[in-house]
Amino acid sequence: MLNIEFLKLFLIFILLSISVFGKTIAPKNSAEPRERKTQTKKIENRLEFQKDRLNLYLKKYGVTAYVLPFEGSSYANKWSKWDYLTEADGKKLKKYVDLFIQEWSKYPVEWVKKSNLKAIAFVKNLNVVKQNRAAMPDAYGEVLYFDIGYDIYGELYQRSTIHHEYYHMIEENYFGSFYYKDPKWNEFNEKGFEYKGGGYLAYEDNEYQYKNHPKKGFVDTYSMYGLEEDKAQVYSYLMTTEYYEKFIEWVKTDSILKNKMVYMRDFIKDKCDEMDDDYFKKIHSKIKSK
Ligand SMILES: [Zn+2]
Repeated sequence: MLNIEFLKLFLIFILLSISVFGKTIAPKNSAEPRERKTQTKKIENRLEFQKDRLNLYLKKYGVTAYVLPFEGSSYANKWSKWDYLTEADGKKLKKYVDLFIQEWSKYPVEWVKKSNLKAIAFVKNLNVVKQNRAAMPDAYGEVLYFDIGYDIYGELYQRSTIHHEYYHMIEENYFGSFYYKDPKWNEFNEKGFEYKGGGYLAYEDNEYQYKNHPKKGFVDTYSMYGLEEDKAQVYSYLMTTEYYEKFIEWVKTDSILKNKMVYMRDFIKDKCDEMDDDYFKKIHSKIKSK
């Protein structure tokens, strides 16, 4: 038993080092007995193991990870439903946590602390106001929910969703509402442009098709559904490496998008001085989706 506990702690340490540097390192001793490898995998796929790994990692941010059943806030209970993970989800959770730690490691501690985020919940079958959702921000409980079951949409989707949903919490924290109609932001759009009226409409719109940079001023079609979604997507495109590379190309010829990028970068830097030009260069020099 003691050996297992020790192995668990050792593994957490190794995995954290690997996640932070964003690459998988082949074990030096490739002659490691197969039995030991199987045992290692079994432990890694346990919910308890990933919970400990997450909490050890998130500690510096002052954030708690919910992996096992927890008490949702009255807001979360009123508007949403979810299922708690079971041991059968362990393998999927492990993969999700690998990716989550890579993305979250882009954030300086100061940025997260100032956002007042208290916890991150890892769940499945998340449903918000009768729509299936990959994530949900709960500003009342200061909890960010992630459904780990969206791997079918691809890694890039999962990575960008982490930042997009977190931005909704940031918006609420600094502007008082998820749905703040930022007048400065609206000024950037072409005269006469109107958002469709809310991100939820995209889920109900049969005509909706996801497309990158469909029109001057927008990183994708989803951004055109609501001002709050536009801001969250611009933020997400700044933080997600593969999108960032596209984004910096588009702004060379798209003055509206450039204004939005500058606005968002200034806002971020104003709250967290460390997040300057060099910071963006640094965080995008190492992580790529598969
Ligand atoms: Zn959103």
